Amino acid sequence: MKRLSEILDKVRGGGRMDRADSKFLLEIDERSYASGLVRAAASSVVRSATDNAAIILGQIGVEVSPCPADCKFCTFGEGHTRFERSKITDEALSQKIHDFCKDGDLYGLYLMTMHTYDVDFYLNTVRKARRLAPPATQIWANIGDTDADVLKEIKKNGVTGIYHVLRLREGADTRLKPENRLKTMRNAIDAGLELYTCIEPIGPEHTNDEIVENLFATLDLGIVQHAAMRRVAVPGSPLFQYGQISELRLAHIVAVVALATARLPKMAYIGTHEPNELSYLAGANIATAESGANPRDVALDTAKGRGRDVADCRKMFFECGFTNLRRGDESNIPLDFGYLVKTRA
Ligand code: SF4
Repeated sequence: MKRLSEILDKVRGGGRMDRADSKFLLEIDERSYASGLVRAAASSVVRSATDNAAIILGQIGVEVSPCPADCKFCTFGEGHTRFERSKITDEALSQKIHDFCKDGDLYGLYLMTMHTYDVDFYLNTVRKARRLAPPATQIWANIGDTDADVLKEIKKNGVTGIYHVLRLREGADTRLKPENRLKTMRNAIDAGLELYTCIEPIGPEHTNDEIVENLFATLDLGIVQHAAMRRVAVPGSPLFQYGQISELRLAHIVAVVALATARLPKMAYIGTHEPNELSYLAGANIATAESGANPRDVALDTAKGRGRDVADCRKMFFECGFTNLRRGDESNIPLDFGYLVKTRA
């Protein structure tokens, strides 16, 4: 307990955790009293830095194809997918944006595509989304490895930042090169985009050393958000056989990520995926509602499958004691029972 107290005191006092501290925290059993302390400390550090506010994101899958990255955990990998090539229609895009944004409290809207994608179609979709979404909702990109010139175009057309990750076992469980993943992140920063990243997709087979390695690979790139996501065992995907970690284990990892990133200069919010209450009591304050294609779902429109809607996200945050929702212009909306009634959550 002495080492644990020293680490938590260091972070509370404004210090940064190192790799050894992070590994020490990850080694703690998530069912233990010590894990309860780690999760409570992470929650308190994050909430006190953000006015006890949480943010809701929306994600729309805009293009689907059998994906050449062939990630062994993803429903779109070309070696095992059952999906055909398709693109979102103008009508569907505008309906989904309306559904996500109608109450004016969506912080950011992700437009997600595959590893290789039609750049002109994507830019066109970005322009439409920027026109349709309220000014206080940011537009974000979730795209494959991309060079600096295209990222500059993406920014010019209204995108604030990109979600990009170096996946666990990148290059072994995917056909992508780790160095290209990191290069895209640096390209994004050079293009003036914000960078949001995540440790994903965490399965029971990943060691704490791998998680620490992944965490520290991106810490000094200038990230604005970090997160942890567990791998969903998608039926038909090659890694289905390994199963899943529990939401409690995910919450413990989220807490370690929150503490390890709390003192980075630009860090603002911490994500967990898929949305779950245990992580919202352990430092996470981002929930993503999803619609359209989703790598963790066998339904073509995840809104009819695994995806949560915005009302679910609001209610989860209320139940977990958050008192503000934040818009993309960083203004707060008081999150109370009256607001839930008004927004039909
Ligand atoms: S996770 Fe992304 S890059 Fe990998 S197969 Fe799925 S869509 Fe392609």
